[in-house]
Amino acid sequence: MKEFTLVKPLSIDDAVSALGEANSAALAGGTDLLGKMKSYYSPTMPDTLVNLKTIPDMAYIKEESGMLKIGALTTLTDIAESSTVKSNYSALAEAARKVATPELRNAGTIGGNLCQGVWCWYLRTEWNHFNCLRKNPNGICQALLGDNRYHSIFGAVAGCVAVNPSDTAPALVALDAKIVTTNQTVDVGDFFTVDGENTTILDDDEIVTEIQVPTPASGTKSAFIKYSQRKSFDFALVSVAVARAGSSGRICLGGVYNLPMRAESAEAALPDAEAAGEAAASGASALPNNSYKIQLVKTLVKRAVATTA
Ligand SMILES: Cc1cc2nc3c(=O)[nH]c(=O)nc-3n(C[C@H](O)[C@H](O)[C@H](O)COP(=O)(O)OP(=O)(O)OC[C@H]3O[C@@H](n4cnc5c(N)ncnc54)[C@H](O)[C@@H]3O)c2cc1C
Repeated sequence: MKEFTLVKPLSIDDAVSALGEANSAALAGGTDLLGKMKSYYSPTMPDTLVNLKTIPDMAYIKEESGMLKIGALTTLTDIAESSTVKSNYSALAEAARKVATPELRNAGTIGGNLCQGVWCWYLRTEWNHFNCLRKNPNGICQALLGDNRYHSIFGAVAGCVAVNPSDTAPALVALDAKIVTTNQTVDVGDFFTVDGENTTILDDDEIVTEIQVPTPASGTKSAFIKYSQRKSFDFALVSVAVARAGSSGRICLGGVYNLPMRAESAEAALPDAEAAGEAAASGASALPNNSYKIQLVKTLVKRAVATTA
């Protein structure tokens, strides 16, 4: 494992200052970041980790001012088991419950789940094994040429076909959430990007502090459905989150594109579940190894819409 210096800030300001130093990274539950440090995934691995868990009061779930507020250090277990989240924001509770294993959900945080790196097998190896373009601007997308069974069916952002891996992201997009950082408040749909190894718009010294979800309008039902190869724990091959009241609502797909993908054509087909499924898959264009995902999109959207009837 790469050696690193561990900084233990006692305030958000101290953490931001520490992250302002060259080659440092925020550490939350460590379930993503420490694995990467062990695998020497990148020539630019951090020298300093800034432990956000030493900052008080960054883990909470509360309803306030017409919205649900979740501290970025709240664990996925706490979200999955919260009676408030389960009753009013069920897509999010279900998405958190479907992440990985109980041990990883006990350690992993919502902030880390949103900021995690991509899990493309051409990227998650020792840095010099594949000339991946996310690690090297002169590289190429190895997955485009190689085994792309788990990759995008809606094209590539910046030439990369790795999918955004977060289960909570599509649920938060469907629920129209906002991400609060030390610099800004953004719609969750605008939070993700493809920028080298980064998956978010965060600056190097920017920290997610809170997730805000508006209280759904009366009569809204939400659901999250995930299909993965292993039922015990696995990343989504395809996931779908729906939040709707009758024929009005939001639908977001996971596991199919570099970003969580809002399916507006499917939303326009609501409340017809079958038509929504067909519409959600309408723009898809499979790679050589992943055409199976197109049928998964149709079926999962149909089921998720039917579940929220
Ligand atoms: C075996 C395995 C299976 C998995 N399966 C799934 C799955 O099915 N679904 C799924 O969604 N995920 C899955 N994951 C990923 C897992 O959910 C993430 O590792 C976890 O949510 C990350 O949270 P963390 O707190 O441990 O983040 P860390 O590992 O501490 O950090 C992850 C990244 O986020 C950054 N970061 C963390 N918190 C903040 C913050 N507040 N502000 C700014 N940046 C921050 C870190 O700098 C780092 O780059 C799996 C992981 C493993 C190891």
